[in-house]
Amino acid sequence: MRSQLMVSGALVMLLGAAFYIIQIPLAFAWSLVFVVGGAVMAGASLFAAESTGPVTPPEGYRFCRFCSATVPLQEARCPKCNGLQLTERT
Ligand SMILES: [Zn+2]
Repeated sequence: MRSQLMVSGALVMLLGAAFYIIQIPLAFAWSLVFVVGGAVMAGASLFAAESTGPVTPPEGYRFCRFCSATVPLQEARCPKCNGLQLTERT
């Protein structure tokens, strides 16, 4: 059960219903596609695994700000892209 997918599927269905009611020529053609697609998204959310929290770097490392590689905390520059790391000196 992935609740984010359930909510986004419901919003897509709502948008499709709005397109159906308002009847703008080009948008109307997509209204039923949106309703069906939103239903598929909401239905798939029941079978999708629950999402985990944000990705955190391993102990003693940080993510490079430029290329997202793992950099040891004491390194001033990223070994992969040589990007200067932000060091906390307060
Ligand atoms: Zn880097």
